[in-house]
Amino acid sequence: MSHFCYDATEIRFMPHVVLLPYSTEEVSKIMKIAYSLDIPVTPQGGRTGLSGGALPVQGGLVLSLLKMNRIIEIDVKNMQVVVEPGVIAADLQESLKKHNLFFPPDPSSTVESTLGGNVAENAGYTRAVKYGVTRDYVLGLEAVLPDGQIINVGGRTVKNVTGYDLVALLIGSEGTLAVVTKIICKLLPKPAIRKTCIIYLNDLGAAADLVVDFFGAGNLPSAVEFMDNMSINSVADYLPRLGSLMRREAAALILVEIDGNHEAAIDSEARRIMSLCEGHSGIVDAKLAENDEQAEQLWRIRRETLPALKAKGKDHLEADVVVPRYQLPFLVRSIQESIEGKTVKVATFGHAGDGNLHVTIQYLRGNFSELEEAHELLGEIYRKTIEMGGKLTGEHGVGITAKDYMTIQMTPVEIDLMKRVKYAFDPKGLLNPEKIFPDDND
Ligand SMILES: Cc1cc2nc3c(=O)[nH]c(=O)nc-3n(C[C@H](O)[C@H](O)[C@H](O)COP(=O)(O)OP(=O)(O)OC[C@H]3O[C@@H](n4cnc5c(N)ncnc54)[C@H](O)[C@@H]3O)c2cc1C
Repeated sequence: MSHFCYDATEIRFMPHVVLLPYSTEEVSKIMKIAYSLDIPVTPQGGRTGLSGGALPVQGGLVLSLLKMNRIIEIDVKNMQVVVEPGVIAADLQESLKKHNLFFPPDPSSTVESTLGGNVAENAGYTRAVKYGVTRDYVLGLEAVLPDGQIINVGGRTVKNVTGYDLVALLIGSEGTLAVVTKIICKLLPKPAIRKTCIIYLNDLGAAADLVVDFFGAGNLPSAVEFMDNMSINSVADYLPRLGSLMRREAAALILVEIDGNHEAAIDSEARRIMSLCEGHSGIVDAKLAENDEQAEQLWRIRRETLPALKAKGKDHLEADVVVPRYQLPFLVRSIQESIEGKTVKVATFGHAGDGNLHVTIQYLRGNFSELEEAHELLGEIYRKTIEMGGKLTGEHGVGITAKDYMTIQMTPVEIDLMKRVKYAFDPKGLLNPEKIFPDDND
């Protein structure tokens, strides 16, 4: 039980029972019994969620899908894959390699997060800027409703406009509408060549300007990631072996990846990006990774940012704000303004090409004035994001950590409409209760 009571938020809620079913039929039976006895059920995948979505806030039953972890079929001819929800993202990537296929959604939590969790959160990842998010790759779902009925929505056709798009509705529903038990995804041929550039800058705002300029100049990189000085230094402390690649004094780091199949085209795009850097303000250093091994080391710096920040041993509040890309420079500068003079420490990193920043506010455990300051800062960042036409969460979901801020973004009419959708699926409110909706409106 102590294993299943927390996720990556490190918040804890103890379940009364944990069940690990092996099949859809078992899930259906469990759901029928829980429904008839009014027992709350919380679906769980790899528990890497950053909004508390997998936490059993009312106790009851945790339904861990980790044992339903079969890759049922890799259909090479149709470039599709059928998986159970407990498949770990990295395992799927590994299995596809030998077929030269690629499932673009691959979050930084790839070694622990599950496909079911990725679907439930509509996960993003570093390459979403070019390839889109999880929703763009899911063609069909099998799912079990709160009362135990099994549904199959979408399927193996590339197109389907028959009625409302229930596949799209379930994706990103954070396990509040149905338990996903099978996933049909489309795949892409794996790009043959990838090149990575690392760019250090002495000014955060200039870094955000550069991100916007990449796209303005007609480039479509497969990833554009961003880290601020605190993120850079946390990783340098956490992974000292990669120290030679890190510039501790830099205000910001940008990683850019370009991919494709033709060497000449990739080289010319890489040259365009490097020459854009040459003339840009704030550049300290910009270079291309020398080989695949070095490129992998650079990506490790980015992937390990969150674990490195957590290793500092402080408590955190985390925001996952997203703005239209052209607003990124304004968001970065406004976060800088907001944190000036504050006691709490703030790290900003994330998927800059998507306008999606992760803001980690660190405060001393047990220090209530720091906790209060952290909450005020979080509220301010959310409000500024919404004023810029942004959204509360780009990929981590609302869960329990962002639900109190929902009214900043959504009108009562919109929230009510969502609640009516929830009611249509789950009239007793037993599936993953107390998520997404602000308490006052319950
Ligand atoms: C180091 C680190 C890096 C990360 N990087 C990224 C990133 O790059 N992009 C990104 O988007 N996120 C990222 N995340 C957040 C997290 O990994 C994702 O939200 C991921 O999709 C969660 O998957 P999971 O299997 O761990 O799900 P869990 O945390 O177990 O659950 C998440 C939600 O999904 C629901 N759920 C799980 N399985 C099912 C199912 N079968 N049916 C219905 N509902 C279900 C749960 O109820 C819960 O609401 C990161 C987290 C960490 C710790």
